Amino acid sequence: MENCIFCKIARGEIPAEVVWKDEHVLVFKDIHPATPKHFLAIPLEHIPTVNDADANNAAILGRLFVAAAETAKKFGFAESGYRCVVNCNRDAGQELFHLHMHIMAGKKFGWPPG
Ligand code: 5GP
Ligand code: ZN
Repeated sequence: MENCIFCKIARGEIPAEVVWKDEHVLVFKDIHPATPKHFLAIPLEHIPTVNDADANNAAILGRLFVAAAETAKKFGFAESGYRCVVNCNRDAGQELFHLHMHIMAGKKFGWPPG
């Protein structure tokens, strides 16, 4: 049993505004939105960082993109556009070590990121 905030959200022990789920992935609103629309897609399974991606969890990680596409459709920003971000470790600013995809929308993003 992982003592991890996102595992607790996945188990329903900590409340979250869930917007989409299937048997492997949960999408919920970020508690401190950094953009007008800001969701987090997590695998239900505890995978700490992108460094832990391997052939055994590739299908589940791929489902994060399916979740992003479904969320974009549901909230009406599929056509206007959005950004999917996965931070890994210190230099990227990862704060919670249960891999998660940020699904961010509702503004025009700059590129490259600063
Ligand atoms: P990271 O910096 O690790 O890529 O992103 C962690 C994200 O999780 C942040 O955007 C932060 O606002 C969000 N977050 C942290 N704790 C909670 C929580 O308890 N509930 C929700 N919904 N989001 C959280
Ligand atoms: Zn976890």
